[in-house]
Amino acid sequence: MTVAVAVTDLHKSFGGTPVLRGVDLSVARGSVTCVIGPSGSGKSTLLRCLNHLEKPDHGEIEVDGVLVGYRRHRGKLYELKEKVIAGQRASIGMVFQGFHLFGHLTVLENVIEAPVGVLGVPRGEAVESAAALIARVGLAGREGAYPRQLSGGQQQRVAIARALAMRPKVMLFDEPTSALDPELVGEVLEVMKDLAADGMTMIVVTHEIGFARSVADTVVFLDEGSVVESGPPGVVLDAPRHVRTREFLARVR
Ligand code: ADP
Ligand code: MG
Repeated sequence: MTVAVAVTDLHKSFGGTPVLRGVDLSVARGSVTCVIGPSGSGKSTLLRCLNHLEKPDHGEIEVDGVLVGYRRHRGKLYELKEKVIAGQRASIGMVFQGFHLFGHLTVLENVIEAPVGVLGVPRGEAVESAAALIARVGLAGREGAYPRQLSGGQQQRVAIARALAMRPKVMLFDEPTSALDPELVGEVLEVMKDLAADGMTMIVVTHEIGFARSVADTVVFLDEGSVVESGPPGVVLDAPRHVRTREFLARVR
């Protein structure tokens, strides 16, 4: 097993209130980790620390063996310049609950924006890969549409295509279906399933227990900023060892 994401003793407080209290996480390359837990347990903060949108107070994060946000020199950590961190961030795809598309850009323009603007991919090449990604998320033919002309499920699939356009080493999803009407949830989960089957390393914060059961290699239950329990879905979801996990699952089911 190759470790794609390694989190060691991650701590983060906001205004003196601890939100992450020493999180350890190891994600194998090509695996899917679903993070579940109550509202306010620190799930979004964990994802945001992974790509340094939030600066951890303590702890280390490695993606493909590269320390995120810092450089180690003689055993000490030195924070990297924002520009270098932005480069690291570019290799970590993120999909949010609210799709965060650019409303004044078409589907195609949304997807090519970062590869052209950040990676410097020639426009023609970017358009070609974008068309393939748009087809992959089931939206071939909608390249010229604007986000407002699409359903929430379609917009979220564009957001996934846009993240994939950066050829990320890992994809982070923060409750990607929570803002969707129930009938649109399935189409987004299908795209995520395909991505998982294709070998993408994924960390997915979700309340979709059915998705976690069928797609996750590992389920992590986070509560009050700590990993209470983690393991295969058959254990964590169906035979949890910890009473807090059982109580949480009883509430969301
Ligand atoms: P979850 O995603 O599990 O619902 P979050 O990571 O969003 O939890 O939040 C955990 C706690 O941290 C919450 O109490 C939230 O209010 C607080 N929090 C998150 N981000 C910030 C911030 N930028 N400033 C202050 N408090 C924050
Ligand atoms: Mg959250």
